[in-house]
Amino acid sequence: MAIISSFEGDAKSEGRNSALKAEASKTDTEQEKSLRPDSFADYIGQEDLQKSLKISIAAAQQRGKISSLGHILLYGPPGLGKTSCAYLLAKELGSNAHIFSAPALERPKDILGILLGVEKGDVVFIDEIHRLNKITEELLYPALEDFQVDLSSGKGSSSRMMRLDINDFILVAATTKLGFLSAPLRDRFVHIHRMEYYSVADLSKILRRNAENLNTSITEKAADIIASRARGTPRIVNRLLRLVRDFAQYQGKNQIDADIATEALQLYKIDADGLDAMDKKILQLLVENYNGGPAGLETIATMSGEDKTTIESYYEPFLIQAGYLMRTQRGRVVTEKGLSAVKIEK
Ligand code: ADP
Repeated sequence: MAIISSFEGDAKSEGRNSALKAEASKTDTEQEKSLRPDSFADYIGQEDLQKSLKISIAAAQQRGKISSLGHILLYGPPGLGKTSCAYLLAKELGSNAHIFSAPALERPKDILGILLGVEKGDVVFIDEIHRLNKITEELLYPALEDFQVDLSSGKGSSSRMMRLDINDFILVAATTKLGFLSAPLRDRFVHIHRMEYYSVADLSKILRRNAENLNTSITEKAADIIASRARGTPRIVNRLLRLVRDFAQYQGKNQIDADIATEALQLYKIDADGLDAMDKKILQLLVENYNGGPAGLETIATMSGEDKTTIESYYEPFLIQAGYLMRTQRGRVVTEKGLSAVKIEK
């Protein structure tokens, strides 16, 4: 399987914020590649997604036409395994994975170049699909529907449109904001799947496998402790594992045990529920200034000094899912659990 990546445009683009950058700095991204699952057997959790993909892959293979699998849209917070799923799909199909991020596809020639270059059955992954510009999006429509592209030649009154056939491919698109997709684009996906946060047991499995890949010895108890503080997110489990490994090495230990894990997590200010300093700051500001809410997203962003997108796509989904925050029609409200998380320090 060849992998063709283009995330540079993404890194340059302004929309990414400090927290997400911290989540996936360049070295992180490189190390992450080495920790990606090698096969669906190593892809833990997301059972519904795996099951429905397996059925559709088998059916498409029986029909002898892989592209009849249909295009796939994965939505949900960052770090839950969307890119990994695209890699594994290409591997399963024995085809190439072309990995891009929407902000890198600014000019018509960017998307046309990709579409004209795909081989039969290839997987094209576009991250942050909600950030595609209108022209690029419209160039995608005939490609998704009929595997054709519209090319214009010449200029002014002598310009002509040509429709060209391209090879069948499968688009796997990812977004943290399903609501931002236009209806015509959304309707062109056969599989639309919401990525779920992971259980502690699944994160612990991922962590133990990745510790092995990093040649790090870890006890089961330590793996569970780290997993329980990873906000249900494999990318965070990987980051915590690396931090704890460094701490253990610095302390001259050749195994991560429960004590070392707990001490390291305290040092890095990750509390027993996986809340980090910004999670707590958001809850605290709401309690102190708005008596727990309701308050709007804009207000929370201004108060915390964090950008709106980060709060909406990174902090808030976890705080809501874990029961610290509620989203009501009048704004965000801190729950009882949220109140005790900021009042009673663990
Ligand atoms: P996303 O594209 O949703 O931001 P990624 O696919 O890049 O997330 O996942 C980040 C990292 O988390 C991967 O490199 C991999 O190590 C780990 N990971 C994600 N999902 C899984 C999974 N289901 N099983 C095992 N590891 C996973």
